[in-house]
Amino acid sequence: MSSYTVINPATATPVTEVHLASVEETDAAIEAAQEAFVGGWRDLAPGERARLLRRFASVVDAHVEELAELEVRNAGHTWGNARWEAGNVRDCLNYYSAAPERLFGRQIPVPGGVDLTFREPLGVVGVIVPWNFPMPIAGWGFAPALAAGNTVVLKPAELTPLTAIRLGELALEAGLPEHVLTIIPGKGSVVGERLVTHPLVRKIVFTGSTAVGKQIMAGCADQVKRLTLELGGKSSNIVFADADIDAAAATAPYAVFDNAGQDCCARSRILVQRSVYDEFLDKLEPAVTGMRVLDPSDEASEMGPLISAQQRATVRGFLDEVEVAFAGNTPGGDGFWVPPSVVTTEDAEARIWREEVFGPVVAVMPFDDEADAVALANDTEYGLSGSIYTRDLARGLRVARAVESGNLSVNSHSAVRYWTPFGGYKQSGLGRELGPDAPAAFTEEKNVFIAH
Ligand code: NAD
Repeated sequence: MSSYTVINPATATPVTEVHLASVEETDAAIEAAQEAFVGGWRDLAPGERARLLRRFASVVDAHVEELAELEVRNAGHTWGNARWEAGNVRDCLNYYSAAPERLFGRQIPVPGGVDLTFREPLGVVGVIVPWNFPMPIAGWGFAPALAAGNTVVLKPAELTPLTAIRLGELALEAGLPEHVLTIIPGKGSVVGERLVTHPLVRKIVFTGSTAVGKQIMAGCADQVKRLTLELGGKSSNIVFADADIDAAAATAPYAVFDNAGQDCCARSRILVQRSVYDEFLDKLEPAVTGMRVLDPSDEASEMGPLISAQQRATVRGFLDEVEVAFAGNTPGGDGFWVPPSVVTTEDAEARIWREEVFGPVVAVMPFDDEADAVALANDTEYGLSGSIYTRDLARGLRVARAVESGNLSVNSHSAVRYWTPFGGYKQSGLGRELGPDAPAAFTEEKNVFIAH
């Protein structure tokens, strides 16, 4: 029997042991989920499914503090982030609880009869979650999948299983039938791969690295299995000379150092128009050095540690290759700390400019004009997010349309909301999550012609 010792990344001390499931246990969970689907969850009256999802949302709401505390300890998230993340699961469940009664089909004019379409659930959906945002990413998968009438088997990341396990318990407490939402901690190479290869799993929702995403896409091809991929990013924050430079410099750290930079949407490149480049850097410095990097158990903490010693070594590997222009502080101790760090470069081939660091490091580069900014922003294999700071709204829209990326914000550092679509261009992903269409993506559209 194998198990994993969960570590508090702020102190490098053990939190608890978690059993890692075997292939046989995974098969049993998938088969039980299939049984819960046929004649069970799939066939429940839509209003009843809606009611149970709303109950699940209110049970999550009653446990926001407990879930947040688990995430502070397990993932090193700040209290503010962790409370937001637990609340996000509640909000997703509430939002998608409106979907069961609204999965409309269509009636299409045809000669000699009537043509109807139906939205049929797929069956068992496998959700594979990374360690950086364990709660929201789980909810973005399971809430619309359950609302559409599917059952879900969810594998949390090895490093961060605790909140997902608790959410599974809360689902049962709320009255969801057994095996409708199963949480199965385990290794990617065991549980994750079995979700991909098991024929009863009809769709994979994967969020994680682009490298593993490619393997999963290849694995799904074998059974033409449906899948969505939410993968890596190397997104740009573009600051034009006409922008409110104070506001752009004050918010830029939160666009990249939130969750210690372990954020697929991190704007880890800042492009600044040359005429305001020095002014921007002068204003960015106090915003970065003033960040409160503290043990996240302290309510005042704005940035916590990295998730693991390995992740810290990866980030330090990037920093060893460059000169840091300025950096913030860390509290020290045994936790996996790296200070928020700013690097300046004019080398668009540098590793720091091209690769996802997934840590609190941002690279800043000057640009000359709008065309230059768009070309630099698009010169990447990724396309997940990005920001544009300008007082010229027409330019804001023009540049947002020109940047090849799924989630852009103008004069704001984030564009992620559960009621708007989320996903990537290019190697940042495939398909969209969230937004009003998400439940339909967990169905097949069936076409039925009835002759008369
Ligand atoms: P990862 O790819 O190493 O792991 C993600 C999940 O996949 C884990 O649960 C892991 O156990 C599982 N896994 C690993 N190998 C597998 C395999 N062969 N088959 C099936 N499952 C397998 O990613 P990570 O290090 O946990 O997360 C960080 C990455 O996730 C970053 O690249 C980040 O950009 C990306 N990410 C993307 C989004 C998004 O929405 N686009 C959101 C968060 C994180």
